[in-house]
Amino acid sequence: MTTITLVLGDITRESADAIVNAANSSLLGGGGVDGAIHRRGGPEILEECRRLRAAHLGGGLPTGQAVVTTAGRLDARWVVHTVGPVFSASEDRSGLLASCYRESLKAADGLGARTVAFPAISTGVYRWPMDDAARIALETVRAARTSVEEVRFVLFDQRAYDVFAARIG
Ligand code: ADP
Repeated sequence: MTTITLVLGDITRESADAIVNAANSSLLGGGGVDGAIHRRGGPEILEECRRLRAAHLGGGLPTGQAVVTTAGRLDARWVVHTVGPVFSASEDRSGLLASCYRESLKAADGLGARTVAFPAISTGVYRWPMDDAARIALETVRAARTSVEEVRFVLFDQRAYDVFAARIG
């Protein structure tokens, strides 16, 4: 049984087995969650991302997929990097957003992680409307077959928190 919890705050301050990064396909850092994770986690994470790029992700990490690195100085064992889709009003990319949650949980399962902290993937620079992103995130996590005991959504502002909370009831 997986418990879903909500927290208002900065994901880089969380303590969890795995912290999920809303990365971009380059895996070489960016703004938002990605920038914050690399800043607080330190250079070890970026070094491992570079090694992954050099080894088998020469073209970058495809949207909807996930890879694992060390968590550096974060209070976690691993960072799971996943690439959310950019929101499009003309094309339904929700399958890719759901895939981020599913693939991240699959990676966490492979590691034996019991607690996983997620940001609201794609709702920042990638512009996904928060309510729809929350629906997809929650539906996908609820439907996932996983050994993860706690999935914690870490929402960066009150509005995002309230949107998730309204859907949890
Ligand atoms: P994306 O490129 O997938 O849209 P962003 O990092 O730009 O990713 O934003 C994803 C969500 O994470 C947004 O709702 C943003 O407000 C939020 N966010 C930004 N920084 C943090 C942080 N340090 N902890 C938790 N959430 C954050």
